[in-house]
Amino acid sequence: MTTRTLLLMPGDGIGPEAMAEVEKLIALMNETVGAGFTIERGLVGGAALDAHGTPVSEGDMALALAADAVLFGAVGGPKWDKVAYEKRPEAGLLRLRKDLELFANLRPAICYPALADASSLKRELVDGLDILILRELTGGVYFGEPKEIRDLGNGQKRGIDTQIYDTFEIERIARAAFELARTRRGKVTSMEKRNVMKTGVLWNEVVTAVHADYPDVTLEHMLADAGGMQLVRAPKQFDVILTDNLFGDMLSDIAAMLTGSLGMLPSASLGRPDDTTGRRRALYEPVHGSAPDIAGRGIANPIAMIASFAMCLRYSFGLTAEADALEATIAEVLDAGIRTADIVVPGIEPVTTGTMGDAIAERFRARLTA
Ligand code: NAD
Repeated sequence: MTTRTLLLMPGDGIGPEAMAEVEKLIALMNETVGAGFTIERGLVGGAALDAHGTPVSEGDMALALAADAVLFGAVGGPKWDKVAYEKRPEAGLLRLRKDLELFANLRPAICYPALADASSLKRELVDGLDILILRELTGGVYFGEPKEIRDLGNGQKRGIDTQIYDTFEIERIARAAFELARTRRGKVTSMEKRNVMKTGVLWNEVVTAVHADYPDVTLEHMLADAGGMQLVRAPKQFDVILTDNLFGDMLSDIAAMLTGSLGMLPSASLGRPDDTTGRRRALYEPVHGSAPDIAGRGIANPIAMIASFAMCLRYSFGLTAEADALEATIAEVLDAGIRTADIVVPGIEPVTTGTMGDAIAERFRARLTA
């Protein structure tokens, strides 16, 4: 029987609450379709700091490197706001991204028809929206050296971050973008700031060169600030948006609001396929954080975490039919008017995290066993 190892790292705040709903789905896939998932568990963020004094332990890093896929909840919270910079909860996530070499971050922004009115934009602009933001994740200004606050000795300090991109980093993310576009509507929009940044000039050149290998895909270039404007003006013009770490961070949060709630947005981070096993390292996580304002109250929306699991089925295990079924189940549950507080509409009583998870599990079971 196939064995598939999943490392669950629920983290802090609402992370564990959302992960519990995914565990229901894992158990039911093992039971109904013999999916053969084996679960390992690891700590990350504040939970790991409390237990091991570090935001991710070496033991859990080893589990992450050995797993077929990592499912990650969220990290952080007021309890750990004052810890040293190197030990902050987010450092656990950054370490995972770096060591697993997760260079490609996929953030779909899909607007379910049942939620089009929850968007900050008019229904006609977002109804049926389905775009994918592909963000470079291991390079750029978040990692470039020097990165420091320098004392200039004259009462002044200088904050320095360095944006660096090498050809190979742009090439591999560009290839990922063109390959993903081939499975979708065949269009890539690359966004940078070539008018003011040298990394933007190189980004533009390399993406254009890689495009020669994908003549069936349409490529357009857009300045990242103009791209931000177009995202809120006419988002449906896009298919795959390819961009760097910093712009991707911001543009994907803008896209988040197009679809109504942070509680709906999944993401996947993919690495290079292993030379011997061919297995691609991967980590799946909701876009939202640990939501300390609602943690422990059982009201968090688990859909972003569940949709991240659907991406895991698709990209790590090739379980396309099951991924399609899970995504269709989410749409079905929303259509049926089942809503957590963040996406509720007048006249409907919001349900708890557990009730939403159960509603999805029940209908998912029906689809798998139909
Ligand atoms: P957040 O995403 O945690 O919350 C923003 C708002 O959205 C809050 O009002 C929250 O209640 C709501 N929200 C988020 N997810 C929700 C869900 N599933 N269901 C219902 N409502 C939801 O962002 P924040 O408040 O800026 O940050 C809180 C903590 O999370 C901080 O410590 C931050 O550093 C951390 N954080 C972690 C990650 C991560 O783990 N990847 C990402 C972002 C922020």
